[in-house]
Amino acid sequence: MSDWQEYPARISTLGEDTVIRRLLPHRQRRMIGAWCFLDHAGPVQFAKGKGLHIGAHPHIGLQTFTWMLKGEIIHRDSLGNEQAIRQGQVNLMTAGNGISHTEDSHYEGDSLHTAQLWIALPDSHRHCPPRFEHYPDLPTIAIGNNQLTLLVGDYEGVQSPVMVHTPLFGADLYSPDGGNFRLTLNLSFEYGLMILEGDIQLEHSALTGCTLYYQPPGIESLSLVMQPGSRALLLGGEPFQEAIVLWWNFVARSQEELQGAVDDWNSNNEARFGHMLSGSPAAKLKAPTLENVLLKTSPG
Ligand code: MN
Repeated sequence: MSDWQEYPARISTLGEDTVIRRLLPHRQRRMIGAWCFLDHAGPVQFAKGKGLHIGAHPHIGLQTFTWMLKGEIIHRDSLGNEQAIRQGQVNLMTAGNGISHTEDSHYEGDSLHTAQLWIALPDSHRHCPPRFEHYPDLPTIAIGNNQLTLLVGDYEGVQSPVMVHTPLFGADLYSPDGGNFRLTLNLSFEYGLMILEGDIQLEHSALTGCTLYYQPPGIESLSLVMQPGSRALLLGGEPFQEAIVLWWNFVARSQEELQGAVDDWNSNNEARFGHMLSGSPAAKLKAPTLENVLLKTSPG
C-alpha cells in the first residue's frame, strides 16, 4: 500500500440518518479518469415512515451513475422516465445540455446502501440531448472464490453494456467467502479503490473505510485479501484531458456556463430542463447563488 495515495472522505448526513461519505472530488484529487464525483451512502435502515427523498434538481455536462447495493429507489426524470432501481442494478442518466430528476425511496422504512457517481462528459458529448438508461443486469466474472461485477468498461474480454464516452473502468469486487482477489490493471489508467463493506487488506496493510486510495497510471495489477462478505469499489480511467468546473449539480467549462444553467433552472426554463414529472413528495431544489470560487480541475 506504500505507493497508494490516501484521501479521506468528507462525511455528512443526508436527512436524519443517512451517512454520506464524499470521496470525490477531493481538494488534492478532483477526478479518476472522467469519474468526478463519488458519494458512498449508507448502509442505513430508515425508521418507520421515513426514507430518502431528493426533490427535482437539474444536471448538465455529466452522466449520473447509480450502483445499488441495498434498498429500492424510484428515479423520475424530465424525459418521462419512471424507473425503480434495485440491488445489483445501475441507472445511468446522461445530462448533456440539461435534464432534471427526482429520487425517492420506493418504500418508507426500507434500507439503503448505494454508490452515487458522476462521469464528466468530454467536450464532444457534453451538449448532447439528454437520455436515460436502466441496466438491470451487469456482467459478472468469477475470480477464484470472488466475484467481479463489471460496471463500466471491459475486463478480460467481457464488456459492460453501460455507455460512456471516455476510456473508463468501474467494478464491484465482492468476496462472499473471503480470500485473495488479484486483478490485472490497464497501464494507461489511473485507479481509485475504496471499501464498500467489511475488511480488506491491500498489499498486507488493512484498508481504512471512508478513504479513497489512488494510484496514477502505470500499475500492472492489484492484489487484495478480502474477509468474508467484504466488498470494494474499483474505479479507473485514462486521465481526463479537459479542464472542468464542477459546481452544485453541474459540470461545465466556465463560470458563464454555470451562471446560464443556474438562471435557466431558477427561471423554470422547460426548453432546457424539461417538464418535471409529479410523483416525488419532495419540493423542487433551487440553485444556490453562484460563487466566484470554483472547484477547478486541471487536466491530468
Ligand atoms: Mn441528481
